[in-house]
Amino acid sequence: MTSALPHGVCSTCSQSLHFCLACGQPVKNKYYQFDGVGPYCQECYQTRPRCDVCSAPLTHEYWQLSDGRVICANCHSTAIYDPAAAAALYSEMRQVVDQLLGLRLNIPTGVALVDRNQLREVIRQQTNAVMQGNPASSTALPLVAENTLGLYARRGMRRGIYIQTGLPRLLFLQIAAHEYAHAWQAENYPMLRDERIHEGFAEWVAYRVIGRYRYTRGQERMLSRQDIYGQGLRWALEVEAQTGIHGVINALSAENG
Ligand SMILES: [Zn+2]
Ligand SMILES: [Zn+2]
Ligand SMILES: [Zn+2]
Repeated sequence: MTSALPHGVCSTCSQSLHFCLACGQPVKNKYYQFDGVGPYCQECYQTRPRCDVCSAPLTHEYWQLSDGRVICANCHSTAIYDPAAAAALYSEMRQVVDQLLGLRLNIPTGVALVDRNQLREVIRQQTNAVMQGNPASSTALPLVAENTLGLYARRGMRRGIYIQTGLPRLLFLQIAAHEYAHAWQAENYPMLRDERIHEGFAEWVAYRVIGRYRYTRGQERMLSRQDIYGQGLRWALEVEAQTGIHGVINALSAENG
């Protein structure tokens, strides 16, 4: 015996069907996942506004931040908004980097949570400094304001890591570790100019850190990138497989000229 459900699918079928997290309708054909969360149906994927962090279609439950970003319930559930929480997680990440890779900073470098507008402003100042021919304050890649979630900045004696507020905990760790690696490079190999190695090393540190937190979806996403970040990460992992952690660090010193 079958009984009709509100969705128009019999109860036997419904047991093998998935329901869209946004509209609640059964997902019959193609479905979508975002950072392992889903399924979402094609219609919601195409028509609903998206989460600014993970791109999932928004449900009625979402959070609007003061800088205009909207965040889904899933991202919000672990998001870091509080400077004290950010500082605690940052210090935890530093210990993980030390344990895993033996990397430590000598110059104090704090972390600041900024909203999207503040981050754009920091990027604008950095870009100006670079254009005024002050390479010591630069990161190697041209800075792209729209998609940037974090930044390591040096201005004179001031050094800091800026991270966008409202990032989920695991993404915060990934971004913080990447920028921390840039801070370490700036201290130890300030003349490093090869962008693939510069970014690849930072991605490698972040990849190892989130691996410690078993964030394998984040690792897969990093590995699958086709740009200089993905290329650099694959390069670093290859060097590590052949010659270990010290091999990766030695490769930096070889390029630091
Ligand atoms: Zn849907
Ligand atoms: Zn989200
Ligand atoms: Zn970077």
